[in-house]
Amino acid sequence: MITTPTPDWSAIDTVILDMDGTVLDLHFDNRFWLHHLPAAYAARRGMSQAEALQHLVGLFNGQQGTLNWYCVDYWSAQVGFDIAALKPELKHLIQPRVDAFDFLARLHASGRQVLLATNAHRASLELKLAETTMGQWFHALVSSHDYGHAKEEQAFWQRLRQEHPFDPARTLFLDDSEAVLDSARRFGIARLISIVTPDSQTPPRTGLRYPAIDRFAELALPDSVHAPRSQTA
Ligand SMILES: [Mg+2]
Repeated sequence: MITTPTPDWSAIDTVILDMDGTVLDLHFDNRFWLHHLPAAYAARRGMSQAEALQHLVGLFNGQQGTLNWYCVDYWSAQVGFDIAALKPELKHLIQPRVDAFDFLARLHASGRQVLLATNAHRASLELKLAETTMGQWFHALVSSHDYGHAKEEQAFWQRLRQEHPFDPARTLFLDDSEAVLDSARRFGIARLISIVTPDSQTPPRTGLRYPAIDRFAELALPDSVHAPRSQTA
């Protein structure tokens, strides 16, 4: 495990956070895609849940890293029923990760620009905003589907910076996906941090390529108010 030195907060004007697995517990999503959806698919197709899971995982793997992979409309068309309509059945599992909301409140109060950047479909984002209080702490909530480019693509970051100006050299980005962190690094974002345990019900991950945290408290955000140098370097 790469240790996570405390960021130099005086050099950070903007913090961009991923949603699922970073701010929110990935347990909801894993439970939905790997249990709830296969069960619904199996019931409709008259097959076992194991067969349904095997079939769906085969479909998922073909789209990994693309916008389709994150698109409920795409998967609804693939399986032949409305996936979004199933999600509220599990909404009690939509929960913050450990101390995420405390960190977001303090981050917002610090005066820094706080952006949510998710690959989740707009419908998934809206469900999570309705079920939690997280929306209040962000200056903007961006779904990559709004831009037509996943976070894995440079075009996403170019568009994000156009619409919500930030200086990559003075930005901290947190995401549980290493492919997404690679993309942010290519774009020039200075500080990149991963998440050790995105899903509270699975063991901590090892062998991560980026510094990683479990609790946001590890980042030692000071309580002092910060005056951003510039949002448009
Ligand atoms: Mg994530």
